[in-house]
This record gives sequence, C-alpha cells and structure tokens, in this order.
Amino acid sequence: MGLVTTRETTNTDHNVESLYQRILQHPPDRIPCRDMDPELWFATEFAQQQAAASYCATCPVWAECRTTGRLLQATHGVWGGEGPRERRRAGYIGRS
Ligand code: SF4
Repeated sequence: MGLVTTRETTNTDHNVESLYQRILQHPPDRIPCRDMDPELWFATEFAQQQAAASYCATCPVWAECRTTGRLLQATHGVWGGEGPRERRRAGYIGRS
C-alpha cells in the first residue's frame, strides 16, 4: 500500500516557481510540515512516511505541493502525501 491519498491533483500549473508562490501565500500555521518537525517528511521508515502523508491530507496546499514534488523529480521526502516510491512508480522520477 502506498502513501498516495485517493485524491488526485487537478493542478494544471506546471511551473515550480508559481506553485511555490501559491504555497507561500498560505499562513504557515495551517501547513503541517511548517508547524511540526520537518524531519518526519524526510523519514526513511515507511510508517513515518505514512504519518507524514496523513498530515499532508489536511494541508490546504497539498495539490500544489504534490505537483512540485513531481516536477522536481524529488527523490526524497513526502510531497503532498506522495513519497519517492509513488513518484518513481508513476514515472516522475527517472524521466529524462
Ligand atoms: S502537502 Fe506539502 S506543504 Fe503540506 S504538509 Fe505535506 S509536505 Fe508540507
């Protein structure tokens, strides 16, 4: 079982900088990984990654974050509830 939530992003913005600007518009105290120990989002243990993903599910910018992780081909970290294994399976890591 993966980390990915059943929600799928409908984000059509494919520019990392504009996505990041939209993320920054939200108050930090509403974004779990800014309000908690960010190490949880970069844990190597799957159970901890699942915990991070559960917080992402409550985050107002999860869609922007997930798309950013995909565009960056992030090989580490949970971005928008999606870990590196899910990004790799979906073909977002390893593309040229
Ligand atoms: S969706 Fe992104 S910004 Fe929100 S808590 Fe998860 S990792 Fe942090």
